[in-house]
Amino acid sequence: MTHPTPNVEHAPEQRSPWSERGASDRRAMLTEILAQVSMEALQGDTLEAVLQRIVDCVARRLPVAIASIILLNDEGTHFVQEVWSGIELDLPGELPWPVTIGASGRCVRSGKAQLIADVEADADYVPGNCRVKSEYLVPIRHREYLHGVLNLESTSVDFFTPEVCAMFDAIALQIAGTVHLARVVRELELANRKLEQLSMSDGLTGIANRRSFDQRLAEEWQRHAQEGGWLALLLVDVDCFKALNDACGHVFGDECLRVLARLCAGIVRGTKAHVSRYGGEEFILLLPGCDLNEAQRLGIDLCRRIESLAIAHPASIVADHVTVSIGVSAARPDPKQPPESLIVVADRALYEAKAKGRNGVVAMPCA
Ligand code: GH3
Ligand code: MG
Ligand code: MG
Repeated sequence: MTHPTPNVEHAPEQRSPWSERGASDRRAMLTEILAQVSMEALQGDTLEAVLQRIVDCVARRLPVAIASIILLNDEGTHFVQEVWSGIELDLPGELPWPVTIGASGRCVRSGKAQLIADVEADADYVPGNCRVKSEYLVPIRHREYLHGVLNLESTSVDFFTPEVCAMFDAIALQIAGTVHLARVVRELELANRKLEQLSMSDGLTGIANRRSFDQRLAEEWQRHAQEGGWLALLLVDVDCFKALNDACGHVFGDECLRVLARLCAGIVRGTKAHVSRYGGEEFILLLPGCDLNEAQRLGIDLCRRIESLAIAHPASIVADHVTVSIGVSAARPDPKQPPESLIVVADRALYEAKAKGRNGVVAMPCA
């Protein structure tokens, strides 16, 4: 793995370099760098951007040849992401790499910081640049959870003094807090997305629920009112469903609803239609760009397909199998009218379909 040439400007300071500073001057500098890293941890829009700022800061302010942060996967078995700054490295292999190898792997396996005073004498060290002489690796740990490793490499043999190492230990803690927060935010976002999904779907059938339908109807009504065009609706109600429950049991009734939901969803798959469970044994198909005739044809097709499923209904007054009645409405949405007017008319049409003997489709235009 060859890292690209870094874009960090090294040693921009006008003051004397690290090696020429006195002990107290160095101590003051370490404190200053620590404060700067804390500041960097508050900048950047993404975790990667924040970590990049931190390693850039370390590589710019201190005589380290390489500063990198290597993050682990959730299982802690592989390094999966690296952010680095410094001189060019030519390492074998691409990420992910397992924690069973390398000095950084040893840092993870032992859970302890690793000071390698002479990299040539360390059997685990994987050479990336012959100028590197010493290395310091610190676990990035938040409470008991190991997020990865902070890796520092130096071209000098005596750079990693106890004082310098203590500062890197503190930086690793700072990084751990940052990574932890980013992961908490990521988990919260995932949980929110899942909740949002759950709040919009029907638990029994898995299709969209009433809440989702209400939202989509309002959106489509407004869009059609602005852009023009037809918006149609099919209100599908299972015939004699109460009698089916009574005769075959609620579990059978539930399974019947699942099958019907799948069929309704399947019949419009690949189109812009929105299918939802509106109530107990009622489904709604919202059909953007569809006029009354097209919607009625779809309703008739749906009625036939449900009949041909031939789900046994020993207590129906219509047939010996499950049937549905469908009310159809369509409108050119008017911003002055409420979107519910589409449902009111479809409901009236459904009532008429029931009155006409069920297992049929009645279409009514909106006034
Ligand atoms: P109609 O032909 O006039 O539509 O008669 P119906 O029996 O289908 O209509 P009704 O409104 O009298 O009954 C609907 C039944 O649907 C009553 C209720 O117990 C049942 N139901 C509602 N939700 C569920 C559900 O989630 N599972 C099951 N198994 N039954 C449900
Ligand atoms: Mg009903
Ligand atoms: Mg019914």
